[in-house]
Amino acid sequence: MGSIVSRLLSRLLREEEIEDIEEIKKETGFSHRKITHLYRRFTSLDKGGNGTLSRDDFHRIPELAINPLGDIITNGFFPEGEDQVNFRGFVRTLAHFRPIDQDNEKNKNPSATEPLNSRTNKLLFAFRLYDLDRDGKISRDELLQVLRMIVGVNVSDEELGSIADSTIQEADTNGDGYISFNEFIKVMKNVDVEQMMSSWFLR
Ligand code: CA
Repeated sequence: MGSIVSRLLSRLLREEEIEDIEEIKKETGFSHRKITHLYRRFTSLDKGGNGTLSRDDFHRIPELAINPLGDIITNGFFPEGEDQVNFRGFVRTLAHFRPIDQDNEKNKNPSATEPLNSRTNKLLFAFRLYDLDRDGKISRDELLQVLRMIVGVNVSDEELGSIADSTIQEADTNGDGYISFNEFIKVMKNVDVEQMMSSWFLR
């Protein structure tokens, strides 16, 4: 079994990516099998065949194309200021959607790197979807833009504005008019973030 998987992998993965695979496994918690599957998916989406995906490539993913949050989630795959994502970045982003590893959370070694599927990293991923200019804080305007993408045209500007205002008012404990990541964590204190993130794909 193991040798079939590794033969498959060596066929599918380019040399430099094979060297990375142990690291990708460690970093993301995905199995060899899952990584192979994702690599197939990645290469089938990579129409340019240049080893990276563009936003256009993402638009061909049916789950995202029909998803009202599709554009927002797509943004989450792209590093700041970039319009291409490589396989490693693609898998790293997907790793945020893995269920939280309870054992890992409980027995966490404080010096170990926080796993990508930890509650904090899931929250950070969600936070960055709102923080459109990635300056580390969510402005009223960013909140409005993302809320508009979520609710579509059925809610008036006025209603949306008052939702944004009350959200910021509730979250913004230091009164600077923005929602920082720490403030975001407090607001999300009672939210099942794992449930929330999986719901993004079931809407
Ligand atoms: Ca911002």
